[in-house]
Amino acid sequence: MSDPVKANSSPFRALPSVDQILRDEGTEWLKTSVGISRLTRMVRQVTEELRLEIQAQPANLTGGLNRESLLREALRRLEETVRREATSGLRRVINSTGVLIHTNLGRAPLSELARKAVANEAAGYCTLEYDLAAGTRGRRGDLVVDLLKELTGAEDALVVNNCAAASLLTLTVMAKGGETVVSRGELVEIGGDFRVPEVMANSGTQMIEVGTTNRTSVKDYRRALTTNTRLLMRVHPSNYRVIGFTSTPSIADLGALAQEVGIPLYVDAGSGALKDLTDLGLDDEPIIGDCVAAGADVISFSGDKLLGATQAGLVVGRTEIIQRLRRHPLYRALRADKLCLAALEATLSSYARGAERSEVPVLRMLALSEDEIEIRANTLAERINAQRSSQLRAEVIKGESAIGGGSGPNVFPKTALIALGHPSISALEIEKRLRSSNPPIIARIEEQRVLLDLRTTSPQEENDILTALEHFS
Ligand SMILES: *Cc1c(COP(=O)(O)O)cnc(C)c1O
Repeated sequence: MSDPVKANSSPFRALPSVDQILRDEGTEWLKTSVGISRLTRMVRQVTEELRLEIQAQPANLTGGLNRESLLREALRRLEETVRREATSGLRRVINSTGVLIHTNLGRAPLSELARKAVANEAAGYCTLEYDLAAGTRGRRGDLVVDLLKELTGAEDALVVNNCAAASLLTLTVMAKGGETVVSRGELVEIGGDFRVPEVMANSGTQMIEVGTTNRTSVKDYRRALTTNTRLLMRVHPSNYRVIGFTSTPSIADLGALAQEVGIPLYVDAGSGALKDLTDLGLDDEPIIGDCVAAGADVISFSGDKLLGATQAGLVVGRTEIIQRLRRHPLYRALRADKLCLAALEATLSSYARGAERSEVPVLRMLALSEDEIEIRANTLAERINAQRSSQLRAEVIKGESAIGGGSGPNVFPKTALIALGHPSISALEIEKRLRSSNPPIIARIEEQRVLLDLRTTSPQEENDILTALEHFS
């Protein structure tokens, strides 16, 4: 608080009060757009800001220190605050970064079918737990379970909030109070606070580390078994690779050991893949059906990584295990909601029809060839260069896209990039203006140039880019 004597003396007296500002007719539209209570909070903030500035550097207040100019300044700042808040919620953006599964941008974009299912079927009342034919209560996510069984060959399946929740649930139900054996080479951290040792600790299972960072054998697992062993765990290293002198048992080898000693094998596949993606350069993501066939008893993977749907943790495995997971109280806290199940249902049905490469955006974009992208980039670059109102120069150069989301850390599909330059506007400034356009366009900067990768930008979004670049004179 300011010194009361000082606050009562000029120039503080010229500062309009909260009430005065709220009564000014210039705030009418602000009241309707954000509501009176939020506006009051903003007015308090703005007057406090002005008070501090008058105290510290009165010379910086350009309009002078009379009541009229301070009121105008307060109103200007209020409008700015309201505008900023209006653009701070969840907004659609154009991803021109070339990173397919961009965690900061919401990971996988949904397919058209998934969007329709969410908006038209699931958003209102729906058959979430209702059996239409019988007119009685049905089971949540029935079709998703059936599709997952069909696509992976597993006996049963279950859906929770995300893959982190899936491993927390699996470890808690299967191994709490006992020991879980895991290789030292798999004690990874996946972006955003998922750390294998911490999930183990939170699940109440004792982590028994075996092998070394680079080499672990079946013998290592076998030697670690005790009467307290409840689970063998295999974690896909996802965003991290050890190369050189390395070895790790196959899932089939671990599955054989698990069966021999009567202890279940849990595979946290991370992204995983429902179908083989080797021809797209992804040759070391575990294929979920292969894990089932190789003898994994329970497997978890993400819904919004390479699968290309929404945030979800998919668990498939033996009936007896899935039933135990479903019956545990933790499942009730972690289960997926109707919007998630609708998106999964639509996406999995694309896989079931064999149409995933044309219908699921992540796979469709991954499958684009460098040539296809280059043709689009050349056309767009020509249109940018033809815009008379702008001095921006676009050039098409070779480059690389990335997978992101902790998948395929060493896979960089070849692409064609649009490189933007301007005689007087810096790359930083261009990038910033793109980011503040509507819809915002997210680009990257390399060597003083702004780069746009059309692999992750849809053809319909190219017009938005053109409009955003119209007035860089
Ligand atoms: C990504 C990942 C997770 C976390 O998945 P979310 O769906 O983001 O919760 C867990 N384990 C592995 C191996 C992963 O790659």
